[in-house]
Amino acid sequence: MQYETTIGLEVHIQLLTDSKIFCSCSTKFGSLPNENVCPICMGMPGVLPVLNEKVVEFAVKLGLSLNCKINKYSVMARKNYFYPDLPKNYQISQYELPILQDGFVEIEDEDGFKEIPLERIHIEEDAGKTIHTSNSSLVDYNRTGVPLLEIVSKPAMNTPSQAYQYLRSLRRIVRYLGICDGNMEEGSLRCDANVSIKPKGQIELGTKVEIKNMNSFKHVEKALEYEIERQIQAVENNQKIIQETRLFDERTFTTKSMRTKEEAYEYRYFPDPDLLPIVIDNKFIEPIKNDLVELPFDKMKRFIKQYSLKEDDVKTLIESKELADYFEQVAKLSNPKSAISWVLTETLGYLNKENKDITQCKIKPVDLADLINLVENNDISGKIAKEVFSKMYESGSPPKTIIENENLTLIQDIGLLEKVLDEAIASNPKAVEQYKLGKKNTIGFFVGAVMKVTKGKADPKIINELIIKKLGEI
Ligand SMILES: [Zn+2]
Repeated sequence: MQYETTIGLEVHIQLLTDSKIFCSCSTKFGSLPNENVCPICMGMPGVLPVLNEKVVEFAVKLGLSLNCKINKYSVMARKNYFYPDLPKNYQISQYELPILQDGFVEIEDEDGFKEIPLERIHIEEDAGKTIHTSNSSLVDYNRTGVPLLEIVSKPAMNTPSQAYQYLRSLRRIVRYLGICDGNMEEGSLRCDANVSIKPKGQIELGTKVEIKNMNSFKHVEKALEYEIERQIQAVENNQKIIQETRLFDERTFTTKSMRTKEEAYEYRYFPDPDLLPIVIDNKFIEPIKNDLVELPFDKMKRFIKQYSLKEDDVKTLIESKELADYFEQVAKLSNPKSAISWVLTETLGYLNKENKDITQCKIKPVDLADLINLVENNDISGKIAKEVFSKMYESGSPPKTIIENENLTLIQDIGLLEKVLDEAIASNPKAVEQYKLGKKNTIGFFVGAVMKVTKGKADPKIINELIIKKLGEI
């Protein structure tokens, strides 16, 4: 039988606010255990939470970027359950009235661009972290009360690869917006997946299984691949799929049953009596709207059109907003096609070797543009340019300073160049004959010969003219 797969993703992103959602404790990652805690985030009796306005601002920012419906009235709710990492025995979240609904995330897969529709996005607080050792369990409450947005997609993806692209696209967007660093290893972006299969053509969805514990986008893809195959095998063997939560095992790339899935009603959600509803108006939304950044795919499409670039090259650029901005500053001051090649090959090549990113690059965009222009105007050769680049990368100095200091200017002394060329002609009679027989690439051969002697410093324009003149005279 043929099967169809349905995948929905729930992504939690940790917001880049300085303080927690309901108190002034720091959200800094990597602090000592239980360093950033207070009576509010520890859930002591008698304390009152106060909502961090930045959280609402970030939610609206994301909502506008993903074309969501922004609910001007939304409510914080208590999700009740017991777990040691949850000191209040309830998590403050949103249930019936989330801040954002609908909207979509644009992805690109083998068939082109697609919009993956969203169900909702809501605000919630994070729980603490339990660390299990061989004979005890420890709890770190630093993360308790760190603000999160939970982004719930509709069950609208059909392949593990689409799920992978969805995560990549969403992470790029939250990074562009500056609301989350998207670091999955540190847990600032987490993803649970819901997956079900059904016979091809059947409208009703199959029983869904939730998968947790995936620490990278690749793991999400692998977990889904395994789980789809497992469900198909089960159905083929006349077994029933149970609604449950399964854990991904990164050593075996399989999923294992953890527990049967809770239904929402078991959490006894109710509006939090300590918190006022979140009411926002246009006055709050407008400034955020005016301050939105261009989204990655919009940037990509614009770059391809505006600078006549290849999609594959631009894809690398837009992975980071800082890199894309860097490129654009260089491109505006020089030839964009040369700019992309210098940025992707040289700049990224040097940075990758040292495991650095573009924000750590000492070369200013204006200086890289200058270097490109020097080559394009034949002021220096391509070979010298690479040498200059290497020095710019080390020191951050402008190219002209390096060229002057290192005496790398082109040799334009015609007498001297003529002498070098005469010697090259004299010792290569065969090449001269070839030229006479009409082989024009012989010119390149002599340019190479002169460059070798002058260590790449001969002015290529003068050399070219001299060669044509000299060979013509012979
Ligand atoms: Zn606190």
